[in-house]
Amino acid sequence: MQQAITYEYWQDISASFTTDDHSKGALSVLEWAYHTYNEDEIVYASSFGAEAIVLIDLITQIKREAKLVFLDTDLHFPETYQVIEDIKKRFPALQVEMKKPHLTLDEQAARYESALWKKDPNQCCQIRKILPLQEAMVGKKAWISGLRREQSPTRKHTNFVNRDEKFTNIKICPLIHWRTKDVWDYIKEKQLPYNALHDVNYPSIGCFPCTQPTNEDADSRAGRWQGLTKTECGLHTNS
Ligand code: SF4
Repeated sequence: MQQAITYEYWQDISASFTTDDHSKGALSVLEWAYHTYNEDEIVYASSFGAEAIVLIDLITQIKREAKLVFLDTDLHFPETYQVIEDIKKRFPALQVEMKKPHLTLDEQAARYESALWKKDPNQCCQIRKILPLQEAMVGKKAWISGLRREQSPTRKHTNFVNRDEKFTNIKICPLIHWRTKDVWDYIKEKQLPYNALHDVNYPSIGCFPCTQPTNEDADSRAGRWQGLTKTECGLHTNS
């Protein structure tokens, strides 16, 4: 029988694995997650970035037909849609939902203004990402995210298992101890498909209006919302 493992247990165990451990705890967390929550209670919200490719490979070792939701803002790069197709071919049992906003881009432009992402990116993210994810989260007790502590100062206190005030459930982050090198070593070793933009200095890839290439020394989120104080789309903040 599966041992009942509490949220507090995972708070403690987040510190017991480190970046020096080979597994960094990721598979243990995922095994716990998919034994604790049934398939209707847990979803992986995936960006199909490099971390997502690793997570998909790890998740499918535990649950081949896991559910995954992608927030299809209608503003992604062609390379992102291509890697989604590549992943579906590589992992055919995976259940991928392409979740769209209620407003098309034309409807959004008519109701607010064209290129809302320039004038009010928070509103744009609210319409095209946060509200769709809130809908996808109905009935879900937990969701999985590829956040890594190394990615940015705002993510360095992330634990394996986190209370999520925004979506009033549990956010599970199996990759907190993975470094960029670990992610890429894993992708190369397993010859997994990945977004071709990563090869031309796009470490973090979101919607094309808000994503720029970076220089190699920049932190991995530096290419997002350049010129603005915004560094997160709002999915990972509790307000
Ligand atoms: Fe809009 Fe940019 Fe947010 Fe995409 S990342 S939803 S384009 S503000």
